[in-house]
Amino acid sequence: MFETLTAEIIAIGSELLAPDRTDTNSLWLTEQLNRHGIEVKLKTIVGDDDARLEEAIKDAVRRSKVVITTGGLGPTEDDITRKITARALGRRLLLDEQVLAEIRQRFQSFGVTMPERNSRQAMVIEDAVVLPNPNGTAPGMFIDHNGTAIVLLPGPPREMRPMFENHVAERLAGRAGSLRVVRRMLRVAGMGESAVDEKIAPIYTQYDNPVTTILFNQSEIEIHFTARGRTEKEANDTLDRLSTQIEERLGNAIFSFAGEKMEEVVGLKLSLGGYTVSVAESCTGGLLAQRLTEVPGSSKYFIEGVVTYANEAKTRALGVEPILLLEHGAVSAPVAKAMAEGIRNRAGTDFGLSITGIAGPGGGTEEKPVGTVFIALADDVKIEHRKLHLPGDRQLIRWRASQAALDLLRRRLL
Ligand code: AMP
Ligand code: MG
Repeated sequence: MFETLTAEIIAIGSELLAPDRTDTNSLWLTEQLNRHGIEVKLKTIVGDDDARLEEAIKDAVRRSKVVITTGGLGPTEDDITRKITARALGRRLLLDEQVLAEIRQRFQSFGVTMPERNSRQAMVIEDAVVLPNPNGTAPGMFIDHNGTAIVLLPGPPREMRPMFENHVAERLAGRAGSLRVVRRMLRVAGMGESAVDEKIAPIYTQYDNPVTTILFNQSEIEIHFTARGRTEKEANDTLDRLSTQIEERLGNAIFSFAGEKMEEVVGLKLSLGGYTVSVAESCTGGLLAQRLTEVPGSSKYFIEGVVTYANEAKTRALGVEPILLLEHGAVSAPVAKAMAEGIRNRAGTDFGLSITGIAGPGGGTEEKPVGTVFIALADDVKIEHRKLHLPGDRQLIRWRASQAALDLLRRRLL
């Protein structure tokens, strides 16, 4: 329905091919480009290799109207982007006296003389617009090559991002016309991927704009919408129309509307209500407390967390009656409830939240297989609990148990 301006990104640097460095520039750039109505169709990561980079640039220029490279603009031998881009485009590389003077000046302002090799960074591709770099020595370049925009940006994100925002975004937006792309993500808890899809597919399949994708992520389902419009408002309105229907269909299962994490949502509800919480954990070993306290400002509502792994610890720290442990076992509804009540009394909080379960791989029985988890929530009127059968390995079961416990509290706070 809408013709988009298509872009591709080339991340340059051998370190990006190794496990120790991740190409985050292209992710950030994709989001920015989308915001300006430019659709990223492809990204490439190329090592510091003359031949491969030359091929990559030639291919990109052949098929895309916008080509953005990051990296390889430094002063060292392996920084080949300037030289190879010039070669791929059949343009000369010329010394720009003004850029050279600026780089010299930058070194002088730090009280050092410019090393000779930095003069390389003053080499500019013929007819390129030089993009100033107040945060580093390497300037960027903007080249119009037979209607294709080729933009060379530095690798360090703190140099690349402001350069894009201040000198590139508007230039490209002009070429994109008025098409805008907006995205939104909803997060769902307590439902499986197919259950979510069954409920909402009849709605979202009626639209080809927005495009809907459902992603499974640890213990959450993410619903992603991408909408296009002639203006940002039109795109947002289109997105709202679909999103509202999905929100009605899924109701309280949706816990996040703007990318917030479960612990942030719970934290916000606790602070808005002026409530406090304490947690008692067995199989999650502190994960619940960790997630709750990861949120800045959590000291306002998080009072205490205990990890009671052994039976004696549950009795000593939480006052769980030994008879309960003996009769029902540590992984049981009565023990989960006693733990929640125990920590609530001990900490004097509005809510006490507990988890006890079998994370595996060992320890399962026929009656209580691996993945059996009980969670409980105590407040001043009642103690409610849930029995869960969680799939996954040890780490995933622990994560999902913490998520379910947080979700139990979230729903109580609605
Ligand atoms: P360069 O401009 O190639 O000398 O890159 C300088 C530094 O920028 C690298 O050591 C990385 O730390 C960072 N960098 C380069 N490319 C990227 C990228 N695509 N994403 C994130 N960081 C990058
Ligand atoms: Mg490099």
